[in-house]
This record gives sequence, C-alpha cells and structure tokens, in this order.
Amino acid sequence: MSRFADIVLPLAQPAYTFAVGEGVEVRVGDAVAVQFGKSTIYTGIVWRLHDTPPSRGEAKPILKVLYDKPLLSELQMRFWEWIADYYICSVGEVMRVALPSAIKSKARCEEEFEPYTPKQEAIVSLVASAFADEVREKLQRRAPKRYEALCALEEAGGVLPRYAIELDAMALKALCRAGLVAIGERPYTLNCEWSKTLLPQLSTAQTKALDEIRNGLTDKMVCLLHGVTSSGKTEIYTHLIAERLARGEDVLFLVPEISLTTQLVERMRGLFGESVTVYHSKLTPHQRTKLYTDMLSSEGGNFVVGARSALFLPYRKLGLIVIDEEHDSSYKQSEPNPRYNGRDAAVVLAMMHGAKCVMGSATPSLESYANYLSGKYAYTQLTERYGGVEMPDIVISDTVRNVKRNERKLHFNKELLDGIAERLERHEQVILFQNRRGYSPYMECPSCGWSARCPKCNVTLSAHQHKGRMVCHYCGYNEPIQRYCPNCKTGELQPMGFGTERVEEAVAQLFPEARVLRLDGDTATSSAAYNRIIGAFARHEADILVGTQIVSKGLDFADVTLIGVLNGDNLLSSPDFRAEERAWQLIMQVAGRSGRRDKRGEVIIQSAEPQHAVYATIGDYERIASRLLAERKQFAYPPFVRIVRITMRSSNKELLVASSLQLGEQLQARFGRRVLGPVTPLIDRVRGEYRVEIMLKVEVESSFSRARGILRDEIKRLRTNKEFRNVTIICDVDI
Ligand code: ADP
Ligand code: ZN
Ligand code: ZN
Repeated sequence: MSRFADIVLPLAQPAYTFAVGEGVEVRVGDAVAVQFGKSTIYTGIVWRLHDTPPSRGEAKPILKVLYDKPLLSELQMRFWEWIADYYICSVGEVMRVALPSAIKSKARCEEEFEPYTPKQEAIVSLVASAFADEVREKLQRRAPKRYEALCALEEAGGVLPRYAIELDAMALKALCRAGLVAIGERPYTLNCEWSKTLLPQLSTAQTKALDEIRNGLTDKMVCLLHGVTSSGKTEIYTHLIAERLARGEDVLFLVPEISLTTQLVERMRGLFGESVTVYHSKLTPHQRTKLYTDMLSSEGGNFVVGARSALFLPYRKLGLIVIDEEHDSSYKQSEPNPRYNGRDAAVVLAMMHGAKCVMGSATPSLESYANYLSGKYAYTQLTERYGGVEMPDIVISDTVRNVKRNERKLHFNKELLDGIAERLERHEQVILFQNRRGYSPYMECPSCGWSARCPKCNVTLSAHQHKGRMVCHYCGYNEPIQRYCPNCKTGELQPMGFGTERVEEAVAQLFPEARVLRLDGDTATSSAAYNRIIGAFARHEADILVGTQIVSKGLDFADVTLIGVLNGDNLLSSPDFRAEERAWQLIMQVAGRSGRRDKRGEVIIQSAEPQHAVYATIGDYERIASRLLAERKQFAYPPFVRIVRITMRSSNKELLVASSLQLGEQLQARFGRRVLGPVTPLIDRVRGEYRVEIMLKVEVESSFSRARGILRDEIKRLRTNKEFRNVTIICDVDI
C-alpha cells in the first residue's frame, strides 16, 4: 500500500501530497475529502500514489474516500492533464469546470447522492383484444392517424416507446379511454432496430454526403461537413449517431450554446428517446451530479447533447463526437481558466477514445477549412438546401448614396424600407439584425463633446431607454440617463449610434401598424423568456423581429422572407484579426434564417463601404476563405501561427507597467520577434483594473509544447520578484 497520495484540489495550484492512513484504501481517480489550509475541507482527486514524503512539512491525512468507485478514469485524467498543459493552467482549474459543483463541495455537506436508477421510458401498449375488426374498420375510416399508430403497435409486437408514436397527447388519451391502448413505463433500453425505422429518409445529396463522411472517416479522424444553412446536416448526423449507439458506443453531440437548442433536443428525443441526455452548466448542481454518477454506472450507449462542459462526462467508449456549428466562437471559454476551446478539446478527446468527429457548419472556420486543405480532415459539401429551397438573394445597400439622395430615414435605407413595406403587405415576416443591445452605445454633448463613461472601465456607457439607465457592458455599472450635460450644464445629451432598442423605436415610427418583438441580451434573460419570444414570432404573432446575434443561431421560421442587416460595417470595425471572418460568418448565418420552405428570401445589408471585399464575395465560401487565408499567412495569424495572449492586470498602474516591461523583455530574450508588446489594449481598464497585453506568436511548424514550457518558466521567474506577485497574469491560448 502506498503511503502518500498527490491530490488535485479545485484551485489554481499544483497537486498536494497527503498521507494515506492505516487501513485507508484509495485508488487513483478516487474523490476524497481533505483538509487544506487552516480549516477548509475540499473534495480532491487522487492523482498519483507513491511513497515519497513531502520535502517540507508533514503530510496531512486523507479524511475520507467519497464514492465507492473512482470518479475519473485513467483516460479522463490524461484529458484533464492535456487541457491544463495546452491552455496553460492548473489541473485543479480544469477540475473546477469538469466536475459538478455538488461533487466538488461534497466533502463539506453530508448529503448523500441518490443511488443509480436506470432510466425509465414511457411506453404505449396495444390492448390486443380491443383491436377487433369492426374497431379497425371504423378507425381506418374516421381517424386514419390513430389507425396507423395502432397498426404500427401491432407490427412491433404490441409495445412501443412513446417517442416512437407520432400522435399527440390528446389522441393517445382518447385511445386509452376507448380501451385500445395502455400507457405505462419500463426501464429504458435503446432499441436500435426501431430507431432506425424512425430516421429520416435522406435525399440524394444527403445520401452522397453521408457516404462521403463514412468513407472519409475510414482513414481520417475528423470529417468537416460544409453544408449551407437548412441543407439538412442534422438529418445526416442522426444516421451516424444511430450506427454508433447500436454498437453500444457513447455519442456526444456538442452545441455552442445549449439554451438555444430546444428544437434540436426535441428532434433527437423523437428519434432516440431516453438515450438523449442533455448536459450543460445551467442545470442545477444536483441534476448535473446525478447525470455524472449515473453515467459512471451505465454500460455505454449514452447519447449526450451538451455544451463544452459535457466533454468531461465519464464516457466508457466514445464512438462519435458531432460538433455542430463548429465555427461558433462560443465554443471557446473566455473566462475564467481553463480558457479552452470545446471544439479543439473534442478532437483530442476523440483521439484518446479512438472515436471519430464530424464537424458541421454552413460557414466553416478558417482553421477547420485549412485542416481540410492540408489533408488532415476529410471534407464533404452540401451546396443545396433541403427540398430545393433557394438560397436568399443578397443585396448590399449603399448608405452613403442613400444619405446623399436624402432617402435614408432613421437608420433605414430606401431599399430596406421598401423591402419591409412589401413584406408587411404580403403578410410575411422580417428579421432586423443589429449587433448592439440597448438604445445607443454612447450619449454625447453636442456643445462640449462630453460623453458618459464608466467610472471603473475605460468605456462609454450605453443608454438603455427601457430601463432609463446608462449601463456599462463590461462591469454592469449603471446610472440614470441624464438629460443635460453635467460638464457644461447647457448641452442636451444626444444618443450616438444605435442599438436594438433604438431600431425597435424607429420601426414603430416608420411602420406603426407592424407588430414588433425584440430578442437580445436584455429581453432573452432566461431560456424561458427566449422561448417565449421565439415561440410568439414562430406563430406569426409579430411581423418584425429585431435582435442581436442571438437571431443568427439555429432558428427556423417559415414566413421570414427578408433579413435586414442594419449596419454591416460595425461588424468589421473591431480590431480583432478575426473581425472579417466573424462578420462574414454572422451575416451568412443571419441570412440562413430567411426563405426556408417555399419562399425565396432576401437579405439586405446596409453599408457605408459597399465596395469592401467582404461584400463582393459574400456568398462564395472558397473565394472568401482563400483570400482570408492568404492574408493570415502574410501577416502571420492563425491557422499559420498559434497565438498566446498574455494579459496582465493590476489596479496599480506603475507596477503593471514595470512588470509587463520586464516580462516582455524576458520573453523577447527567449522568443525574439515572436513577441509583440507589451501594448495597451483598446479597453485598458475594466472593473478598476488596468490591463496590458503581450502576444506570443509561435509558428505551427515549431514545438508549441516547448514554447509553452518556456512561457511558464518565464512567468514563474517574473514572480520571484515579490513586488510583482500581485499582478494577475492570464494566458489565453488560441484566442
Ligand atoms: P441544417 O442543420 O443543415 O441547417 P436542418 O437539418 O435543420 O438543416 O434541416 C432543415 C430543414 O429541412 C428542417 O426542417 C428539416 O426537418 C428538413 N429536412 C432536412 N433533411 C430532411 C430529410 N431527409 N427528410 C425530411 N426533412 C428534412
Ligand atoms: Zn457639454
Ligand atoms: Zn464598467
């Protein structure tokens, strides 16, 4: 028996050594309770067992082993280590996102978790005696749908899972009352044969793509499915998923934001019933823990739909990871550590499991597309929408010309005004996209130029008319909207620029008869609120939906035939090297929301710079991708280099400047011209802390793991200077 255990705690610290007491049995991967510091009890994970006493002090004992089986498999431990190493953080910080908080705090509360209960599924069974000939005949005549359902039941031997029966609850109840069927429950097992009959019949183009994916995955691990919006990528995934589940393998379906996926989960439940588990950080700690521990006890065949944190579930044998909307920037955790990219980590996890990945997008990221070009990924394309729906017509509307001709009214060019009027007349729907919430991004005094700024951040305050307040979008600070300039006391403050609230107001003035809904961070405050707005718009209870980028994601509205992008240029104006790629992806995703089904859609993009290259090639993926890739290559940006952004923060400006200059020098000595900075970012103060950034660019051909090692060492060396210890240093890999 080993006498010591290195234990990972949910902290930004390395593992600590604890003593394994007499008679205590621990295994690697076990969750244990330990005391750390004066009185805090933590849950930790046993990482390594050995016989070497700690070099300093005496090892404290492990207090308790918390579960009857290890919480982490060997493979999961290697995965945590990979994330910590690649994203330059501690394994303990990975633990923070990887385990549900109820597990992490279990050591402190005495509550025991419920034992594993196998999932139940609702079933419908045929009361055979009741299905007599005369009933049969009557039903066939009067209620063909119910008749079909009964025949299906009969064919399946009398019992089917509820999800497999296409009848609404009312119809089923009626059948129940008539004594023809009984509704019950049984322990869930995936019936693959049955699931297969539920899978949608694929079109010729979809079948071809599915074959290409299967072929591609025979010798490659990842296949990129590049399919225009509404081409039916989801249907293709379902076939791949069914195959894996049938083999008893686990499947993970990753989505960028789980709150936006009600439609998807419903579709999947209709096909795979109770095998669908939805996992994300918005579940209660208790729900997440139950899902985690149940999966520990399950025998595989789990189908998880989840956000990036679902990567950390205890899969037995992952067979497939689907990464939907792989281009979406919300796959990256921006804060706090680990600042990992769920898409990229998924590929590593799949590799560890010997699983396959399918990444889907209508607008693949340049990274993934480059991986196809270099032969790393397989690739297949769907160029047409399902059911022959046409791609929307894209029109660039010249704002400057509109202003010259005096044809622009309240942020709307003539083309867009006419387009909206036409749609309203035809009782069709319109989506208006503006990538800013609130009324206006800043208020300015026309006489002295003063504008309201956040006292803690170096940004202007946005006006939010509905709340009557000026709000900082970085720290949440807010104050009442003022009418007169506090600086010169005479000027009346004017809203500058416009956000969704102001668009909503303008629409009300220009089209008083139109019914308008707004979807943005201020109205979609919960998934219930989000669903309410989306539901109302889908039922055509409004004519116009005004929204931020939320409207670009995964929605399907039959009656929308016009999309207006109010200001295409401000998407391009951010200093980020991805600005153009993001702007273009966003526009194409928003465009994808129109003209589904039978009506051809139109997209009108308002721009003061209509000759910008992004507009010239907007519908042509290959051209835009090759131009952007050439630029990235020329100026040394991803995917040709890897970037680590080192952000240093402190409320003491002098200390920050001194420490960043020193770190900059240290890094330049090691990396030479690969180091850029320290520079002051555009927003150099947030929540009262000053910020400085250093960029490190490492060519993909050179060893990134060595570079990370050097970076870690140099940061450690900087910290030997006691003065600098209070400066926060954050590394963000692959920004
Ligand atoms: P994507 O994920 O590529 O945007 P979806 O999978 O959402 O596209 O499909 C778009 C629409 O077409 C959906 O309403 C879907 O139900 C329908 N559809 C796609 N493929 C099929 C199919 N093979 N059979 C029936 N309906 C399909
Ligand atoms: Zn003033
Ligand atoms: Zn602020």
